[in-house]
Amino acid sequence: MEKHIDIKDKSDCCGCSACKNICPKNAIEMMSDNEGFLYPHINEDKCINCGLCKKVCPVLNAQETEKQKHTYIFQYNNDTIRHESTSGGAFTAISDYIIENKGIVYGVAFDKDFNVIHTSVTNKKDLSKFRNSKYVQSNPLNTFKEVKENLEKGKLICYSGTSCQIEGLKRFLEKDYDNLILVDVVCRAVPSPLVWKKYLTMQKKKYQDIDKILFRDKYYGYKYSNLSIYTKNNDKKNEYHRGIDSDSYLRAFFSNICDRPICYKCPFKKDNRESDITIWDCFEVEKFNKKLDDDKGTTRIMTNSTKGEKIIKEISKKHICEEIDFKLATNKFLAMYQPVKMNSKREDFFEDLNILSEEELFNKYFPDTIKIKAERNIRKILLKLGIYKPLINLGKRIRKRD
Ligand SMILES: Cc1cc2nc3c(=O)[nH]c(=O)nc-3n(C[C@H](O)[C@H](O)[C@H](O)COP(=O)(O)OP(=O)(O)OC[C@H]3O[C@@H](n4cnc5c(N)ncnc54)[C@H](O)[C@@H]3O)c2cc1C
Ligand code: SF4
Ligand code: SF4
Ligand code: SF4
Repeated sequence: MEKHIDIKDKSDCCGCSACKNICPKNAIEMMSDNEGFLYPHINEDKCINCGLCKKVCPVLNAQETEKQKHTYIFQYNNDTIRHESTSGGAFTAISDYIIENKGIVYGVAFDKDFNVIHTSVTNKKDLSKFRNSKYVQSNPLNTFKEVKENLEKGKLICYSGTSCQIEGLKRFLEKDYDNLILVDVVCRAVPSPLVWKKYLTMQKKKYQDIDKILFRDKYYGYKYSNLSIYTKNNDKKNEYHRGIDSDSYLRAFFSNICDRPICYKCPFKKDNRESDITIWDCFEVEKFNKKLDDDKGTTRIMTNSTKGEKIIKEISKKHICEEIDFKLATNKFLAMYQPVKMNSKREDFFEDLNILSEEELFNKYFPDTIKIKAERNIRKILLKLGIYKPLINLGKRIRKRD
């Protein structure tokens, strides 16, 4: 049997890059496959069969230990930061604490070409890069090695990512560090960077000089968050705002047609997590506290260690942070426990990805039908008239009465 990593089935690799980072001979390169996902490739000439890459792989070495957990709902005390964040801005509050203690925060941001990558930040101003979920698998680049070097220097580090990336980093580090805080997001799945690139190429033809892209913009409020594109000249007429029922990329993501193969059998879906803090959405905040239901966004937090619990206690002094019942917080939350079901057209979609133009691809699988267009236009008109949110609230009240 091979002593080095040997990916025979793509659904056995989450692309965390722990193997590449641990290899003492630099024999592993992460290379993109025809679907756009990164996998390790071994240079047999350099490999000395030390077996380290297999030892650190979080998929081969899955483990689960029972944790003492606490759960919270969270809202940042500044509306602008909360608006820019995916949900309630918990990650910014955690990062504020790290930066106030002279630490380094690692998270996921766009590079200048809107590729999704892991990078680091040492001041509060730059934290905006990390706000808002990027619905694309991020490239961790060399961050694992960087984190290790900084930890050894005694720096306080916070690293955030999907649960598989966090488990990969933990195995790579091989020991616990008091100065490391790991934050994982509960993720339903991650889409292909190549599908994202194709979508971006299509949008760039219509929107030149793109300044900002948000996958979870609160333009219509938190409960109907949408993909938004803003251009550099701040031209309101030249903005793009479409939700999961209308934007072709979000429709692709939420129909499970372009996710990484391992996501369909994700071994990291559990509530005993390897991170110190887990964060995810809370759309039904009224279940926990009606007064907090302002449609501006709420994060659910789970602390999985004393370190994590200590930080949440600290940030709760400045922000709204209420402890909630663990069972109520996690019960039936599919993204926490259950992998998404693969779309039966996934294979055809990826075949077409490399043949069709971007417009042909998205129109074929996610056509902009008359019904979709009509619903979109009604929403726009209601928003312009200022009655979109009151109508949504009225609808909610009627549904409750029924
Ligand atoms: C791909 C993906 C799928 C998700 N699916 C769900 C879901 O099904 N249900 C749910 O409740 N929540 C999901 N989340 C989590 C949710 O979107 C928010 O990240 C979470 O609620 C925290 O919001 P916040 O306002 O506290 O933080 P924000 O300020 O929004 O911070 C975003 C955090 O996410 C990290 N991040 C952003 N993009 C990525 C990425 N591509 N890969 C790894 N980390 C990233 C950043 O580093 C930062 O730590 C998902 C997140 C991602 C990235
Ligand atoms: S077995 Fe050792 S040398 Fe070979 S690829 Fe794995 S880590 Fe590198
Ligand atoms: S360590 Fe990560 S990248 Fe390497 S084989 Fe395992 S899952 Fe894949
Ligand atoms: S669903 Fe699982 S395998 Fe996929 S990115 Fe999330 S944690 Fe990783």
